[in-house]
Amino acid sequence: MRGAVQQALLKAAESIVLDDRSIPQPRAGEALVRIRSVGVCGSDMHMYRFGQIGGIRIDDAGGPFVPGHEAAGIVEAVGEGVSADLVGRRVAIEPTINCGQCPWCLAGQANVCPHHTFLGLPGCDGALRQYMTHPARLCVPVGDELTDDELVMLEPLAIAVHALDRAGWAGGQGALVLGAGPIGLSILCLLASAGADPIVVTDKLDYRLNLASELGATCTLNPTRDDVPAAVKKIGGGYGLPFVFEAVGEQQTFEHMVACAAPAGIVAVVGISASDHLGFPHAPARRKGLDLRMVRRSNHTLERALRWAKSRHLPLGRFITHHYPLADVQKAYDQVSRYADGVVKSVIQP
Ligand SMILES: [Zn+2]
Ligand SMILES: [Zn+2]
Repeated sequence: MRGAVQQALLKAAESIVLDDRSIPQPRAGEALVRIRSVGVCGSDMHMYRFGQIGGIRIDDAGGPFVPGHEAAGIVEAVGEGVSADLVGRRVAIEPTINCGQCPWCLAGQANVCPHHTFLGLPGCDGALRQYMTHPARLCVPVGDELTDDELVMLEPLAIAVHALDRAGWAGGQGALVLGAGPIGLSILCLLASAGADPIVVTDKLDYRLNLASELGATCTLNPTRDDVPAAVKKIGGGYGLPFVFEAVGEQQTFEHMVACAAPAGIVAVVGISASDHLGFPHAPARRKGLDLRMVRRSNHTLERALRWAKSRHLPLGRFITHHYPLADVQKAYDQVSRYADGVVKSVIQP
C-alpha cells in the first residue's frame, strides 16, 4: 500500500488546492477507507467563503485542512483490534469523533461532547481525499441498496432525524420548514414519509421550492414575494403551525420562525448563522410560550437515517444535482457558494 494519493486542502478563504500525500496507515481501532463520494455541504461554505465558521478560524484552529464530512467509501484495511470482517465493506462515515467518556457521551449526547473533533474542520482532516483513516466504530456498514450518491445524503439526513427527535415531532402533525437546502429538504422527506400534514416549505430559490413540492411539501412559499407569516397563519387555522424547523440561519427566518409558530409551538433551530448573532422578536415568542430547541448536528442517528432511507425508499438521489472529480473541487465549491446552476447537493468523486 504505497504511492501518492490526492487530497484537497483548504488553505484560506476561497483557496482550495490539490496536494499529494502518501496513503495513511490505519492505527489501532481505525479503518482505512477508499473514499468514493463526498457531499459538498452548506456548512463547508462558511469556511470556504469567509475562512471561518461560528468563530472557528482556519489559522487559529490549526491551519490548512482537508474539508469534507459527508462521505462514503470502501474499507480496504483495518488496524489492530478491528475485526477483519470490515474489510471490503461499503461504509458511510460518522463525522463526529466523540470522546466516549465524558458525562454527555455516557448519557448518549455525543453531539455535544466538549472533547469531540469533527471531520473536515481545522485540526481534523476530512474526507476530500482518495484515502482516509477513521475510527472503525464510526464507519457504518451500509450494504448495497443505496448508491454512492445516496450515501452522501445520510449525514444530512441523520441531522434531520436528530432535528425531529429534538422537536419531539409525532406523526401526522403539521410543520413548517424554513429553508429548502439539503437539510431542510431532508427534514421535509422525513416529515412527508411519516404523514405530516400540512408541510409548508419556504425558500428564496424557486427551483428548490419546486423540488420541495415534488418531495411532498403541501405548500411552498417564497419570502421574496409571499407574506410567509400571513400565509402560514392562515394554513394553521389562524394560529400558525405547531412545529417549525429553521434550516437557514438568517435574520428573516428567525423572525418567521416566531411569527409562524402556533401558541405553545416547538421551534427547532438547525440553521447555522454566518454572522453568529441572530435575534428574534421577544414578545410574540414569550406570549406564545414557544419552546426553542437548538439542534447540533446529529446524535447517533446515522444508522437510523440509513434504516429510514431504506425502509421508506426516501428519494435521496433526487438531491444530487452535480458530480465533480477531485481535480474540480474549487469549481464545485464555487458553484455551491453561489447557489449556481440549480445546485442542491454536489458530489465529489475522489
Ligand atoms: Zn454537512
Ligand atoms: Zn465526550
